[in-house]
Amino acid sequence: AQRSRDDLLVARTQASEAQERIIALQAELEETSRLMRHDQLTGALNRRGLEEMFQKEAARAQRRGCGLAVALLDIDHFKKLNDTHGHKAGDDALVHLARIVRQHLRPQDVLARYGGEEFVILLPETGGSDAQQALTRLQRELTREFFMADKQKLLITFSAGVTPLGDGEPLEAALQRADAAMYQAKQAGRNRVVVAPLPAANT
Ligand code: GH3
Ligand code: MG
Ligand code: MG
Repeated sequence: AQRSRDDLLVARTQASEAQERIIALQAELEETSRLMRHDQLTGALNRRGLEEMFQKEAARAQRRGCGLAVALLDIDHFKKLNDTHGHKAGDDALVHLARIVRQHLRPQDVLARYGGEEFVILLPETGGSDAQQALTRLQRELTREFFMADKQKLLITFSAGVTPLGDGEPLEAALQRADAAMYQAKQAGRNRVVVAPLPAANT
């Protein structure tokens, strides 16, 4: 009887050690998965994370028959900021922008870093002009919350293109439209948001 009690005790200890190890591995797995889907500098999603969220949001929009807006924004004269204040200031500006966007958009909106100083935002249940208003509000917030570099207040602005997602349309196609609209915003003097409507065949 004594021996089987001892055996039981050993088995219990082993089981609880195994349990702890499983919990640690799960935490490690979650962290790895987070790293794979997020941009380390800004904490926004990376391209892989964006693609996954897009699949989910596009499917949901289709199911519910509600709109999904896609926005592409690009910081204005970012090279000048880097050249004048250094790469670290440039990095800090990216972090600042991502923070402002997260603070002032709805929780269900999705922010991803698409390239160097380009970000994509997915806005569920939002049409083109509502998305334009949301982005314009972000531009206003950026003028309120200054960004500090070398103890200097700097104004960051961005240009953006927004477009509604077409029925069954892949992200790539919507982004092409948003990119063309963003280019128009740059041409028109920057710090503005241009809407690209759906092509007639898709409405
Ligand atoms: P525009 O208003 O036309 O967008 O001008 P721009 O200077 O923003 O555009 P351009 O594409 O000429 O320059 C983008 C710069 O962004 C070039 C590169 O040095 C900088 N950049 C890209 N990625 C990073 C990054 O991760 N950190 C920093 N600090 N700079 C970056
Ligand atoms: Mg750019
Ligand atoms: Mg730029």
